[in-house]
This record gives sequence, C-alpha cells and structure tokens, in this order.
Amino acid sequence: MPLDFELSEEHQLVEKTVRDAMKPWVERRAELRAMIKRAEMPEELWKDFAEIGLLGALIPEEYGGNGMGLVAQALGFESITALGISPNVMLVNCMDAACIAKVGSDALKQRYLPGIADGSHRFCFAITESDAGSNAFAMTSFAEHRGDRFVLNGSKTYISGFDISDYMLLVARTTKEGEGAGHKGLTLFVVPTNTPGITSQLIPVSFAEGVNQYALYFDDVEITEDNVVGEVDGGAVAMFLSLNPERILAAAMCSGMSEYLIGAATQYALDRKVFGNAPIGSYQGIAHPLAECKVNHEAARLLMLKAAWAFDAGKGPVEVGSLANMCKLLNADSAIRSADVCIEVHGGNGFTEEYGFLDMYNGARLLKTAPVSREMVLNFVGEWDLGLPKSY
Ligand SMILES: Cc1cc2nc3c(=O)[nH]c(=O)nc-3n(C[C@H](O)[C@H](O)[C@H](O)COP(=O)(O)OP(=O)(O)OC[C@H]3O[C@@H](n4cnc5c(N)ncnc54)[C@H](O)[C@@H]3O)c2cc1C
Repeated sequence: MPLDFELSEEHQLVEKTVRDAMKPWVERRAELRAMIKRAEMPEELWKDFAEIGLLGALIPEEYGGNGMGLVAQALGFESITALGISPNVMLVNCMDAACIAKVGSDALKQRYLPGIADGSHRFCFAITESDAGSNAFAMTSFAEHRGDRFVLNGSKTYISGFDISDYMLLVARTTKEGEGAGHKGLTLFVVPTNTPGITSQLIPVSFAEGVNQYALYFDDVEITEDNVVGEVDGGAVAMFLSLNPERILAAAMCSGMSEYLIGAATQYALDRKVFGNAPIGSYQGIAHPLAECKVNHEAARLLMLKAAWAFDAGKGPVEVGSLANMCKLLNADSAIRSADVCIEVHGGNGFTEEYGFLDMYNGARLLKTAPVSREMVLNFVGEWDLGLPKSY
C-alpha cells in the first residue's frame, strides 16, 4: 500500500467534531483564562470533553470508552489548543486510562475506566519525588506488602491537580534498593486521593497552568491489593504505557499551540501597518521568522502523528518511546519559538493579558522540561537510537 499522508475520514471527523464543539468556548476564552489564573476547574468544559468522547479515546468500548485510539485523541488535543484553549488536566487522565486499559485487571478496568470516559472520575499521576525526577528509578516511596494490602510511606512532588482529582495513579517502590531493585522493584497503584494518611502542601509556581501543584506526604497509607495495576514489581514497563502517550499528547498540545500562535501572528502581520501603507508582514524581518515557525511546525506535527500511529499500531515500547520522546522535543521547541515570534510580531501588544501569548509561552516552556526534559530525551535517543554509551 502506498504511503498516505491524508487523515482518514474518521480522523477528519474527530477534528471537525472537536473544533465545532469548542467554538462556543472561543467566545468565552477570557472567562476561561480568568479561571485558569485562579486554578479553578472549568467543570462545564470538562463535561464537553467527555461528551465529545475525548476522555474515552484510549478506553475500549466494553469499558465505556470509544477506543478511537491515540491518533484521534492527539488530533483532539491539537484541535483544542489550536483554538487557544487549554485541555487542562485531561492529559494525565488520558495517560492513566491508557495504562489501566493496557495492564489493569478486569475488575480494575470495570471500576475505573467508565468513570474516566464519562468524566465522573478524575485522576492525577504521581511519580516524581524531590530526589527522583529525571531519575525516576531513584524513588524511595515504599509500599510494603502486609497481608491483603500495601502500606505506603514516603512523598511525591509536583503532582498536578491533586486537589481536583478523585484518584491518583501512583508509582512506588515495592522492593527496597539493594534487594535487586533498580527498575524492577516498582509497582503501580490506584490510590483514592482521600485515603487516610495522605497530606498535601501547595507548591506555588510563578505562572498559571490551570491546575495547582502539590507536594504529597504518605504516612502508613493503606492500599488494597486489588488496586495494583499490572504486576507487583513490574511497574517500570507498565509505567511507560502511560508515559509514552503522555509525551505524544504533550506534543499534540504544543502542535496546536504552534498553529494558534502562527495563525495569530500571521493575521497581525497582514493587518498592522507601521511605515506608510505596507503591512509589517511585507518585511522579511517579520516574514522569515514566521515562515521558519511554519516549517518547524509542519515537521514536528508529522512526527507527532507518526508517534501516535506507532502507539495505535502496537509497535514495541522502545520504538514508540523513541518517537514519543523525539516528537515531544520537536513540538515543544516549535511552540516555544512560535510564541516568541508571535510576541515579537505583536510588538507591545504581545505582552497584553488580552492576547495571552505570554501564558502560552510559559505553557510551552513547561513542556520542554516536563513531563520529560529535553536533556533526558536526547539521552534516550543517544542511547537507544544511536547505541552510544550511557554517561550517567
Ligand atoms: C508545573 C509542573 C507540573 C508537573 N506535574 C507533574 C505530575 O503531575 N506528576 C509528576 O509525577 N511529576 C510532575 N512534574 C515533575 C516533572 O516531571 C519533573 O520536574 C521533571 O521530570 C524534571 O525532574 P526534576 O524537576 O527533578 O529535575 P532534575 O531531575 O533535578 O533535573 C534538573 C536538570 O538537570 C538535567 N539532567 C538531569 N540528569 C541529566 C542527565 N543525565 N543528563 C543531562 N541532563 C540531566 C535535567 O534535564 C534538568 O534540566 C511536574 C513539574 C512541573 C514543573
């Protein structure tokens, strides 16, 4: 079969459905921005995400989803951000759903997936610890197996949306360091956020992301055995079933941001006249950076779609991981550059609340560092794609 870059009819329909459904929110962008600044959950928007099927794209129909797959979901995320709207905590919900759907027990899938798909269960994701960020395998939070339950002690940090989530998908150590642990001793759990023994502390961050960040502390938190996701001590592999779609969806968000920013800047460059009657877009000093953004955006977007396709096609975790990492890097770089150029094109207006470009710059800049940093992506590509020795 020849290589075909056309989106399928189904995928075109996803794009159209999402863009049509989100249109009323374009009018309400100022209201949404104000909610984002207050880190207030836009419940109405959340319901819309569920209604158009975006929360259930990685969930099979038998568990309440629509099983449309990651390409469809990525197109949905891209379409939302291309309208200047943030998908908010949808990213972690979708990545958690992907993991539970792939390795969770049937009972676990029955219990949690329908609620994620219809928007009634909200999830956050907890892996990072203060001494285990880029090096997640250095985590020390420990869940001790006692009878029919695990007892968790330790802490996590930068957990987005803990306050508005009913559950978290949490990674903890179940084999202590020195007992053959490393990447083998990790386990994934679903933990209700109101479980006794969990305390939280707000981490103030200096830009509005729409959700708050929390440090979490676990003091003898009991988790029943039936909330283990996948195999005990087999969490490292299961974890990547979440982390790969997260990276691809983060790339899709950046791709949508680039589309929005390049579109806004191009329109402004056509309208704005500074010297005589020529629009500023006729100056190459304005046109070339914009054209470069367009070139980078097109290339980055193609890799994002290829990564989502590889996930849907069931390619191996290293192949998907490599594409997911590369497309996250390219799309974050593209969105950051697009935001910078968009601000430059708008002159002083680029800094106004009304346009909100600085917020987008910050959003794109975050996605350069999290969920995986640019440096760790390059380390992965060096080691796994090029076979270079690991330096750390
Ligand atoms: C707003 C926000 C939201 C977040 N949300 C979540 C969440 O919901 N859940 C969650 O679990 N985590 C979350 N995180 C955590 C995020 O994933 C980590 O911050 C990120 O992975 C980096 O880890 P770190 O902060 O510990 O940096 P570090 O690991 O301390 O790294 C510091 C710097 O050193 C570089 N570095 C480290 N090792 C190497 C190496 N070997 N080679 C080259 N460079 C290296 C890194 O790339 C980075 O630039 C969030 C973070 C932020 C800021």
